[in-house]
Amino acid sequence: MEKLIAGYKKFRSEVFPEKKDVFQYLAQQQHPQALFLTCSDSRIVPDLVLQTGPGDLFICRDVGNIVPPYDELPGGVSATIEYAVSVLKVRHLIICGHSDCGAMKGILNYRALDNLPMAATWLRYSRSALEEVERTLGPDVPHEKRLHALIRANVVRQLEHVRTHPSVASARASGQLLLHGWTYDIPQGTVEAYEAQSREFVPLEQMPIPVTT
Ligand SMILES: [Zn+2]
Repeated sequence: MEKLIAGYKKFRSEVFPEKKDVFQYLAQQQHPQALFLTCSDSRIVPDLVLQTGPGDLFICRDVGNIVPPYDELPGGVSATIEYAVSVLKVRHLIICGHSDCGAMKGILNYRALDNLPMAATWLRYSRSALEEVERTLGPDVPHEKRLHALIRANVVRQLEHVRTHPSVASARASGQLLLHGWTYDIPQGTVEAYEAQSREFVPLEQMPIPVTT
């Protein structure tokens, strides 16, 4: 806690005075360009990786960067998506997984979830991603390779889920919203993006810059 209080004091004495105009501008409005939906993992700091600041990203975080299909579980994630898309009219919705994800490791080893009933229930929305990985890779593939594949398959599966949300479907149909699937590699500090045509993840900087209408 000392570290947090010291950080707050530094924010008050150094950072806030420097950015006072930004905070005054943002006092009663926000126009974030993207909804960034990622895992709760402490090692992912979107504003650091994307060099964004206050007002740039509307952020939703949960264990495993999961989006329940629209009909299945009304909850905070669905409400956040609805607000970001329908009210804030974000242009981009990014679902971002990451390396060494504890949630994905939990899915690979369901016994690890024996005493975590809430996590086990929540992670069922990734179960079909695991089934796909097992079907594709077979049983003899090393754990690291399965985890690598599952992290990516999960992002693709959650992109499918988010399309079932009426606010998202409507915004995509009108050209307001684009969907993106990313993964962040913690030790390398790199981002890969899902390329729908090839069904591969490629370095983000190789992707054409997408434009909404
Ligand atoms: Zn994670």
